[in-house]
Amino acid sequence: MLTDSEHKRIFFFKASEATDIIRTFAENYRSRMFKEEIKKYLAENQHARIQLKSVLFDMDGVLFNSMPYHADAWHKVMASRGLELSHTEAYMHEGRTGAGTINLVYQRQLGRDATEEEIQDIYKDKTIEFNKHPLAKRMDGAAEIIRKVKEDKLVPTVVTGSGQASLLNRLEENFPDTFQEKLMVTAFDVQYGKPHPEPYLMALKKGGLKPNEAIVIENAPLGVEAGVAAGIFTIAVNTGPLDASVLLNSGAHLLFPSMESLCDAWEDLFSALQATQL
Ligand code: CA
Repeated sequence: MLTDSEHKRIFFFKASEATDIIRTFAENYRSRMFKEEIKKYLAENQHARIQLKSVLFDMDGVLFNSMPYHADAWHKVMASRGLELSHTEAYMHEGRTGAGTINLVYQRQLGRDATEEEIQDIYKDKTIEFNKHPLAKRMDGAAEIIRKVKEDKLVPTVVTGSGQASLLNRLEENFPDTFQEKLMVTAFDVQYGKPHPEPYLMALKKGGLKPNEAIVIENAPLGVEAGVAAGIFTIAVNTGPLDASVLLNSGAHLLFPSMESLCDAWEDLFSALQATQL
């Protein structure tokens, strides 16, 4: 008997290494698992089916491979002050506000919150440290998934806690003619960050969508929590160093080890999303 966690792990294989029989078996198994997980979501959220219209993409760690730079910047700026935040912890807390992350470290090591001045000072230095890195590259597989999403007549949108001024230009350069500014959700649109559902609820509102008319693609535990709390079918892509169980425990409905593996499975996943009913 598989545990729930093991069961959600997708059955991956390299097509070139599989015989036709094994490949057919694996594809059938995967499709069945997609349908089971979709049914669980439908039952929990009281929908008869998913009527997919839009795909809500998180940005850092999903569209851009920027998380190693963020984790490195957090670790260095804390270490320069005698404070400890490991790279893995930076991934664990991805999506938290700057103040939230800083206070977590302050409470743990100093037993108090940081002052407003300390927060501003540390966050400024973290941004300087981050900007020493080159611009983050597009995540492998991201452009290909977006191409498939557009071919399937679905609307791709970005939902991010980032408030970088250059964000729109960077998205346009890397994913031309893809994202509509009026549908996007950034740090400027919301009062609460992930894991609060507000960013995803705002994306639904902007797009005129019901929760069962979208899916979320997220890489971070707090982002997954936000998508699930908004009542949306949420797919985790584990593009960082975290154990897969962390993302599953956050409530991810499906888990893929990379954007490329999600891209490879897209056709099967899209059919399952369209076909599965309670
Ligand atoms: Ca992210």
